[in-house]
Amino acid sequence: MKKVWIDAGHGGKDPGAARNGLQEKDIALAVSLAIKSKLENEYEGVQVLLSRSTDVFLELKDRTNKANAAGADLLVSIHCNAGGGAGGFETFRFTSASAASRALQNVIHGEITTAIKPFNITDRGQKTGNLHMCRESRMPAVLTENLFIDVKSDADKLKQAKVIEAIVSGHVSGIAKYLGLKKKEAATKADALTVIVNGKNIDGVKLIDDVTYVPLRAVAEALGVNVDWNNNTKTATITN
Ligand SMILES: [Zn+2]
Repeated sequence: MKKVWIDAGHGGKDPGAARNGLQEKDIALAVSLAIKSKLENEYEGVQVLLSRSTDVFLELKDRTNKANAAGADLLVSIHCNAGGGAGGFETFRFTSASAASRALQNVIHGEITTAIKPFNITDRGQKTGNLHMCRESRMPAVLTENLFIDVKSDADKLKQAKVIEAIVSGHVSGIAKYLGLKKKEAATKADALTVIVNGKNIDGVKLIDDVTYVPLRAVAEALGVNVDWNNNTKTATITN
């Protein structure tokens, strides 16, 4: 089981950058929670641990202490940018980062910039910095700066669900690629399932989250009961 540490920047009394009706801490949290859910739902053998899952304040050292104690395989710290920029996306590794951190940054940066390409977001590149989260993490660590809160055109993008989804899926595929995670089998695998009703093989069976779904009419007909479909009320009525 691989352990991924996702660190939502700021929180509680520290909003991070705040402008254009947005607070960095809220975006960082929303993106972090969505990364956890998507990564764990779509990939096998991975657990995502979070610095915070609510709007609480944490010191930087508390974040890296927890990630180091958990023995996470990698850490990604999620932020938004502000101050002096013209907008865009960039990533940071520690100034004298390990080869593993450089590799992680390269993969994550590439996957995110690919995912956000449709939204015409400036790629500010892969950068280095003496940042606590990257310096004090014992595992490969990268910090992502997801657009500028104080640049109006970036803020407008951050307000769109599809942009946030692209940022999330870029992080998820980057992490999965770096760790070599295996995608879960599709939830629906009809050919592996057989349902027989009164000796009749039912086509179109699906298994979704351990529940078997079968076409209603085929089952009803095999049972020899009547199905009435009312298209106005979208109601199926079964009688025997
Ligand atoms: Zn920040």
